[in-house]
Amino acid sequence: METRSVLIQNLCVPCACRCRYCLLSWDGRPVGVSWERGAEYALRFRAWQRAHRPELRFRYAFGYAMEPPDWRAALSLLRALDSPQTEYLQCDGMRMRDAAACAALTELLASEGVKRLNFTFYGLPEYHDRFAGRSGDFALMLRMMGAAAAAGLSVSAGIPLTAESAPQADALIGILRGQAAGAHIFLFVPHGEGRGARLQPIRFSEDDLAALSADTARLLNRELFRPEHEWLSEDAFTEETARTLLVSLRPDNIGRYAAMEPGELIAEIEALDDRYYAAFPTLPALAQRYGDPAGTRFYRQRDLFHHYRRLYAAEHGVSVYDVTDERQSGSRRY
Ligand code: SF4
Repeated sequence: METRSVLIQNLCVPCACRCRYCLLSWDGRPVGVSWERGAEYALRFRAWQRAHRPELRFRYAFGYAMEPPDWRAALSLLRALDSPQTEYLQCDGMRMRDAAACAALTELLASEGVKRLNFTFYGLPEYHDRFAGRSGDFALMLRMMGAAAAAGLSVSAGIPLTAESAPQADALIGILRGQAAGAHIFLFVPHGEGRGARLQPIRFSEDDLAALSADTARLLNRELFRPEHEWLSEDAFTEETARTLLVSLRPDNIGRYAAMEPGELIAEIEALDDRYYAAFPTLPALAQRYGDPAGTRFYRQRDLFHHYRRLYAAEHGVSVYDVTDERQSGSRRY
């Protein structure tokens, strides 16, 4: 298993939403360290990585919401760290702003070199607000989209498909195109990690796909997202050969991490990843045991593997440090 990249993450900025499927299981308490401590650690790690492991791709990201203490200072730090967040920001869960404040923020971001803002819409306004756990969230994101387009930023909007949201997709896309005509709109099937496990009873299926208009259905990447029976009958799995390590900075690890050589920390997280995957059979073996050859629900490969591992863990009482829980240090294989 080749380690190709390291992502340092500091989940220190509270989110204003409480989405039903939050990957990060946001519950109102940030798990990260202070902004300054995270920045200091990331800069030191970056300097070490440049000198000792230049072949590794390095990234730094903060969350939950894109609300740093000071945007200009934050972007300067992110540039020093070559963070993808210098160009692309996922703007969910931000604080409430009126039209003037949306315009001021998007103009500032454009002047600082940010290129694209992304938004996630769960359905039509009332449904979206309920799903996101905040009244007025849909309207805020529409205001931000319009302001971003007016400031010359590119805009993209993702729509998670479930049995509940799919019937709303055509009308929702109409609203989004009306707000930002050039917006890149895409559909995806939300994964079952974090609080996403709660969406399993309404996981998007072939029946839901058949009910979408042809124009809307085209916005779903059918190479990535396939019904379970298709994954199984076409033997379409690709072997995972590489991994990204996630270093999640938290009050319970920052002191120890800061005292370690980054190389030691890399080896420690690689060992956690090895141990986790050694506790489970391979994806093809799990598919033989748990796969439903008639399954019509959609998954991407990583999501289906996660689903089968959960079934295996429940049957065999597997208890191992979960490297896929993105609130803590871990890994992502691909
Ligand atoms: S906006 Fe993002 S971080 Fe906040 S609750 Fe929703 S999914 Fe979680």
